[in-house]
Amino acid sequence: MHGDEVSLEQKSFAQLRPLKISSEILATAACLLVLILANVNQDVSPWLYSYCLVAGITCYLTYRARTTQQLWLTGMLLLCTCTACLGSLAIAIGNPLLWFLPIGLVLSLPVSAMHVHPWHALSTGMAIWATLFYVVHPAFDRQLDLTLTLLLIVGSLLVATLVCTTFCHTRKDVFDLQRQLHGMAYKDTLTGVPNRRAFMERLTATFAEDAVPTPLFFLMLDIDDFKTINDGLGHDAGDRVLVEVANRLREQTQDYNFARLGGEEFAVAAHVTDVAAARALAHRIVDAINSSPVCGVRLSISVGLADCKPSETMLSLMRRADLALYLAKSEGKNRYAMAAQGDVLFD
Ligand code: GH3
Ligand code: MG
Ligand code: MG
Repeated sequence: MHGDEVSLEQKSFAQLRPLKISSEILATAACLLVLILANVNQDVSPWLYSYCLVAGITCYLTYRARTTQQLWLTGMLLLCTCTACLGSLAIAIGNPLLWFLPIGLVLSLPVSAMHVHPWHALSTGMAIWATLFYVVHPAFDRQLDLTLTLLLIVGSLLVATLVCTTFCHTRKDVFDLQRQLHGMAYKDTLTGVPNRRAFMERLTATFAEDAVPTPLFFLMLDIDDFKTINDGLGHDAGDRVLVEVANRLREQTQDYNFARLGGEEFAVAAHVTDVAAARALAHRIVDAINSSPVCGVRLSISVGLADCKPSETMLSLMRRADLALYLAKSEGKNRYAMAAQGDVLFD
């Protein structure tokens, strides 16, 4: 993970997809098995096997689904197909009224937790019962039986919706907690920009690739004379300066790996076209910090810039950027200096 956040929709999809695929394969296999077993005792129309074929195709569609919306639609199609299959079988083997409620309840209730919206669970349940009524045409002898059956159906729909609502809330709570933890682990508390851990993990991942995508430039940044701001205006003002500097740097480095490493030090790892573009970036950073005073103080920053040489290690690159930063400081601050391999050259 190295700091990349995912949305609740993406996370729910990733969680539900394998559950849906496996349960749909199981439901399809169960329908097929029931048909085969029923066939042993009596002749069952071969047409009933076509339901299993449709269910199999639906499983494939679920496998190809890319959103929770698609998962819901393919899931509903599969459950209606299984309902039609079992309803038709109940008619074929006789006494469909006996199987009417069990089929509807068994197919609609367990899947209710596998939806991301309560109304997905409600609509799926309604589709299942509607299919069952359409296929079985239950003829209740007594009005009481019909009333009780309808009451049970409404009850099952309510329970399915309730189960889904509870699971959705739980999933959202867990997601929010994970996001909070993620923020605490990967964001700098004071400024809200990525922290050293996020930066290093991303940079390590870049270096772990077979070949470091070049050109890669490392910029080590350090606010000039920050201690005097703290000493002169107090720690609170120093904190406000850090937040403002972080915001200005974030604007300049949106496409790159950027972080506050600690104290008044920041870093950028940027894939830019060439050294001229890297110098332009360093120049823009220095200008952005100069642009307007904060807490009545004119700010400046020094930048050490190093280009990643072929097969250079991450630590060597950071070290050369650090040396370039010292050079920028020693040459008067409020500027950037470029490092060469081995030597550091002032720019
Ligand atoms: P130079 O121009 O050479 O970089 O000098 P400097 O004063 O910027 O650097 P120095 O390392 O002497 O001082 C850095 C100061 O930053 C010291 C430390 O108290 C302060 N500092 C570190 N973290 C924080 C923070 O989170 N908030 C505030 N307000 N100050 C911090
Ligand atoms: Mg420093
Ligand atoms: Mg400093």
